[in-house]
Amino acid sequence: MSISKNSKAIFVEKNEGIADRQKKSMFWCTFPIALLILLSMLPTAFSLEPSYWSYWNRTPSKAMITLTMDDGLVNVHNYMLPILRSHNITATVYVVTDYVGKVPGRMTVEDLRDLQANGWEIGSHTLDHKHLTDLPFLQVLSELRDSKKWLVSRGINVRSVAFPYGDDNQAIRSWASRYYEVSRGTARYYTSYKNILPADKYVKGMSLPVDHNITYNYIDRAIAEKSWIIFYFHNVYSNGTITDNGQSLNEIADYISQKVKAGQLETVTLIDGYHKLNGRPGFLP
Ligand SMILES: [Zn+2]
Repeated sequence: MSISKNSKAIFVEKNEGIADRQKKSMFWCTFPIALLILLSMLPTAFSLEPSYWSYWNRTPSKAMITLTMDDGLVNVHNYMLPILRSHNITATVYVVTDYVGKVPGRMTVEDLRDLQANGWEIGSHTLDHKHLTDLPFLQVLSELRDSKKWLVSRGINVRSVAFPYGDDNQAIRSWASRYYEVSRGTARYYTSYKNILPADKYVKGMSLPVDHNITYNYIDRAIAEKSWIIFYFHNVYSNGTITDNGQSLNEIADYISQKVKAGQLETVTLIDGYHKLNGRPGFLP
């Protein structure tokens, strides 16, 4: 009995010894890998980027509004620019670079330079307006990188991108942040500065509501919250009616400039709004 007990004890001890050695060797196998992972995370942990929460807790000193127009349609230059200029409002336009000066109804490089000279921001809306989420990785990179290159080589100062159809995901936002200071997605609901994903350098714009009273309510809500509201739309007819929702751009611009004159609201381009919010105006990556 005692012998068998003893042999059992030895057997257990032996087994534990093997298990222990295995554990030790496992540790020495995984330890360098874990150390490498930890070291690779260090630059992120100690980077000068404000943390996620500090972004969320930071409100602009005054409510801000940004008007963005997607696709680069020629009426934006011909009809929107004069209306907004007369109200002292600058905007951001996102252009599909393969169409610039080539497809009828789209702006030319000269139009874009004119907008830029008027204080507007020109951003990329990719090369050819594809659904980025359907494309292979290398093509997504090309859409993001080469559209910027094309504009920059023509004297356009490109700092932000808007994803066609608002199609993006974490990987696409992260790749976009290699080339742009900020990217813009889309939403069909009220957005505010809290719709920013700071880690991804990403903001959401909202489509213009169909009812102009809702548009005004959203602007009022942004003022009350000292928030940043970003609208996106596409085009106007020659009489200044916005094609997206049938509202008068003149009336909306009147409403905005009324609030600006009252000291309640500031109009900003997307890049300026983003940097006012994160407290680093003029920051260049
Ligand atoms: Zn578009």
